Amino acid sequence: MAKKEISRKTFIKGLAAGAASIAAFGALSTVEKSKSGSGSAGSGSATVPADIQAAASGLTFTPGTYEATAKGLASDVKVTMTFDETMITACDIDVSGETPDIGAMIGDEMAEKIVTAQSADVDAVSGATITSEAVKKAAADCISQASGTTVAVGGNSEGSDWLGEAPEIADSDITETVDTDMLIVGVGTAGWPALMTAAEEGVNVLAIEKGKAPTNVREDIGAIGTKWQKETIEQFPEMEIDKTEAIEDIVRYATGYCKYDLIKLWANESAETTEWIGGILEDSGKYYMQHEGGLGDTRYPERDKAYATGHSPHKTDDAGDDVTTTSVFEEHLAKYSNAELRCNCELVKLLQDDSGKVVGAIAKSSTLEAQADGTDKVTEEHYVKINVAKAVLMSTSGYATNGAMMNALQPMTQEMKVQCKVGSKGDGSGIKAMLWAGAAMDPIHTSMMFNRCAVKPDEVAGADTVGAWFWFGEQPFLKVNLNGERFCNESGPYEFMLHSMEMQPNHTYVDVFDANNKEYTKQFQEVGCCRLWPFDNGAISNRDYDSCWESNEQLIEDGYLIKADTLEELAEKLNIPSDTFVKTVERYNELCAKGVDEDYNKSPHRMTPVDTAPFYGIRTCAWHLTTLDGCSINTNMQVLREDGSVIEGLYAAGDCSGNFFANNYPNLFTGLACGRSMTFGRHAAKYIAAL
Ligand SMILES: Cc1cc2nc3c(=O)[nH]c(=O)nc-3n(C[C@H](O)[C@H](O)[C@H](O)COP(=O)(O)OP(=O)(O)OC[C@H]3O[C@@H](n4cnc5c(N)ncnc54)[C@H](O)[C@@H]3O)c2cc1C
Repeated sequence: MAKKEISRKTFIKGLAAGAASIAAFGALSTVEKSKSGSGSAGSGSATVPADIQAAASGLTFTPGTYEATAKGLASDVKVTMTFDETMITACDIDVSGETPDIGAMIGDEMAEKIVTAQSADVDAVSGATITSEAVKKAAADCISQASGTTVAVGGNSEGSDWLGEAPEIADSDITETVDTDMLIVGVGTAGWPALMTAAEEGVNVLAIEKGKAPTNVREDIGAIGTKWQKETIEQFPEMEIDKTEAIEDIVRYATGYCKYDLIKLWANESAETTEWIGGILEDSGKYYMQHEGGLGDTRYPERDKAYATGHSPHKTDDAGDDVTTTSVFEEHLAKYSNAELRCNCELVKLLQDDSGKVVGAIAKSSTLEAQADGTDKVTEEHYVKINVAKAVLMSTSGYATNGAMMNALQPMTQEMKVQCKVGSKGDGSGIKAMLWAGAAMDPIHTSMMFNRCAVKPDEVAGADTVGAWFWFGEQPFLKVNLNGERFCNESGPYEFMLHSMEMQPNHTYVDVFDANNKEYTKQFQEVGCCRLWPFDNGAISNRDYDSCWESNEQLIEDGYLIKADTLEELAEKLNIPSDTFVKTVERYNELCAKGVDEDYNKSPHRMTPVDTAPFYGIRTCAWHLTTLDGCSINTNMQVLREDGSVIEGLYAAGDCSGNFFANNYPNLFTGLACGRSMTFGRHAAKYIAAL
């Protein structure tokens, strides 16, 4: 049980210190603070009813202790809060039933945040978003009980200022100073290539990472023109990619809200980056690279074209369970004395000189001590000032775990998604730091989502719902809305399916398949990470059918996937109208027999009947992977202001950078997000090294 208490004296002192800091900040003119520059701060100004403001401040309470629970990932999370007339004086959080090394560790931190902020609307702990959200929900419930006013977390409130101001850190609080030529903030898919490139180029580089360890790079890397791709093309000439056509298609996916030059840069440099990073992995003897050579059934071109851009590193037989891309990269980095990686070190804000040039950063560094129960305890924390001679490269990912940002910028994503355990750790801290420094942000707020998440038959999509991982969901089986009606061509980019779902009741649909599903998944000839069978060139898929079906059996046991002997029984168990559903299936089977989808134009090889018991159905929604809109950059990865001018000294790569995607993720270019992140991370480091 984590407990945080605060005395009135301490709290008032804290408030006074905060006020002093804000006043001091106002007097500092070196930091260019921009909310309006983002184009998105405006989106944070939607109206909300007064009764769902999250902050407790301003409310009065009936003194006493209140208790509430909310559904976490593996248990009901319990929050107990004590109030006097005007404030929260104590908070106890019981997360002991949550995942041992993850959710169960966050009690102290969340209790501290809630009491310090006097609010339930605090930042989630990254990596434990679902448990954090449950804690926030239960805390809001306690505040509601104590105040007699309904308080909810994460409302689109007019006053909800997701950007806020850069925190003011007093010089006296900074107990360590470090000098470096280049600082990389965030070590994952973009940060790793940037760090290793800077090391190889001889730059004096420091990388800070807020996690206990860096994030492994994503293992689907999109590129055009690698040696592995060329080998496939010798056997399958139809997989040759016309660069111009590919660039045009990516621009079309973004409906023009992108920079052609950045897309061209990926098309031109992704092969070199992928071969270089693949080379490091292969040279270790622990990985081998494969090109994911597959285009689908080319007899029936889909309405959206696939490009065989994907590359995956796979472990060799000799590589043990402890081998990861990170462990290989750490070994590689150890060869370079000019490079340092520091974990448990989180960026707080950027530092600028009078001209606006970014000249450093302040970060919070922590020391952790492993506890007997497997958790970590923070034993020491201090602020570090990092003076940077050449450049700061931000590679901190997006803002998927920042509820306030998501509510303000992507309300539609919040409606489609459910909480699911694996996702980006991005909490928006990097983007916010760049906005505080004057950066502009993409005007279109975009996410990457898979339709591979499920809810139970009495649940619907929504950011408050805790769902389950459903890898099978990407297969283009029959899909019906909650009225039992078919509503779109089930075949196409993942998000097109989800966007069609957004237009349906409760933003939720039902996947329907039958006993012959195994054969059908072969016939579908999927591309990318949802493929369940080896690719045409023999490359292995990310997951195979059998392991996927094992997960489905678990989903049946857990009450997500429904199995029935008749269509009527299936509809009943899924809480959808049986008559309409049965008619829909009959019509679908009729079209399958004809071989032509007269209703929604689905390709013939994906028209597979639902006619053999047992029948299966599951309510499916969006698994939110990451956000893809970020700060504006040029082709040197320099961060730009709204007027297009460069913020000297500041660079960005990966999901915190923008101008590449809009409205959706074009997943038929397998690995494009990861390929962009890596290519741009490496490009930025080379550019900075040459300064
Ligand atoms: C489950 C999943 C599957 C995906 N599948 C694919 C796929 O198949 N193909 C594809 O192309 N893309 C895929 N993506 C997306 C892809 O992973 C991202 O687009 C890409 O990883 C972004 O890289 P990044 O470097 O921006 O972020 P990350 O790799 O997340 O790295 C960001 C790092 O910054 C650190 N950090 C954040 N804030 C701070 C701070 N304030 N201070 C210090 N450190 C900080 C984080 O801890 C993290 O280590 C997937 C994403 C997910 C979550």
